[in-house]
Amino acid sequence: MPEKMKAVVKTRPELGGDWQEVPLPRIADDEVLVRVRATSICGTDVHIYKWDPWSAGRIGEQALPQILGHEVAGEVVETGAGVKGIHMGDYVSAETHIPDPQDLQALLGQMHIGERMKILGVDRDGCFAEYVAIPEVVCWVNDKAIAPEYACVQEPLGNATYAVLGEDNDVAGKSMVFVGDGPISLFAVGVARAVGVTNIFLVGKYDFNMEIGKRMGADHLLYANKDDVDRIAYIKDHTRGYGADIVCDMAGSTQALEEGFQMLRKGGRFTAFGVAGEATVPIDYNNGIVFKGCQVHGVNGRKMFDTWYRVRNLLSSGRLDIAPVVSHMFPLEEYEQGFEKMIERPRHAAKVVLFPDRQEFDAAQQRRA
Ligand SMILES: [Zn+2]
Repeated sequence: MPEKMKAVVKTRPELGGDWQEVPLPRIADDEVLVRVRATSICGTDVHIYKWDPWSAGRIGEQALPQILGHEVAGEVVETGAGVKGIHMGDYVSAETHIPDPQDLQALLGQMHIGERMKILGVDRDGCFAEYVAIPEVVCWVNDKAIAPEYACVQEPLGNATYAVLGEDNDVAGKSMVFVGDGPISLFAVGVARAVGVTNIFLVGKYDFNMEIGKRMGADHLLYANKDDVDRIAYIKDHTRGYGADIVCDMAGSTQALEEGFQMLRKGGRFTAFGVAGEATVPIDYNNGIVFKGCQVHGVNGRKMFDTWYRVRNLLSSGRLDIAPVVSHMFPLEEYEQGFEKMIERPRHAAKVVLFPDRQEFDAAQQRRA
């Protein structure tokens, strides 16, 4: 095993990250060391890369230096003395919400939202590196048939899957609106299609991403930034006047929330996933929620490990093809290009995957050629 590795390190409380040589992570007794085969850039990484007010408050300057990244697929190369269920050579990904087993939520089967849970790449070093230490409790063994460039995105794909299925998995034969055209929304379109949602509306802004949404199975594309179509009337017209059974907000903007509740039928489900820029957002509480008799479902993370189980099966069965959403791949050391793609507006990228090892990058490019 080498003593040093290359990593993308956040060193200063300002825009950017540094390509550095750092010591290999040391694993605790309940952790494994993973050789990273592929990793992907999440919106959270972009917040930290930019060092916006959220990062400054949530992570803080005192935590730096810290390695970025949390979405990963790789091979277990070392196991801690207390690790029982994960073995050398296992091909794993990581649930990024690291639960505290003492949390009430953990005892109730909601460990992904435990009071004291920690997040990989936010509360501890992440995986934009050749190696990463991962607690056994959040290791998920992948199907070897799933290529690393897809296995690494199972974490956000899990968000998408949980947002689509909700708590009751009562979606087949129903209509669903996704507001927002970021990668998780595009994944969600594909999941919805695969699990039998029969009328899918995608509300977005950028042609590049809307085109991917179409390929993922959206039946209707509606532009949030054009007023040629009355979006709410359009959705009612295509749902026999009722509105959609389920609306998933994947944007968090004031417009998305205002319109989202109006697009929902009475008695429907509103899934709140998009993070609002402002802490308080005005919504029509009476007409949007109370009189509508709707359910509001907040999604933070994925169900451990019900969602992971379903995601793995959706991918390895071939029922769900996420290739269109993985729009860009780079060697890890070209991470700056990857972040530029993620930050650029208008958007010309969905999911960006990075490879610490050149050979893995070349192999992935061959697979996609
Ligand atoms: Zn993520």
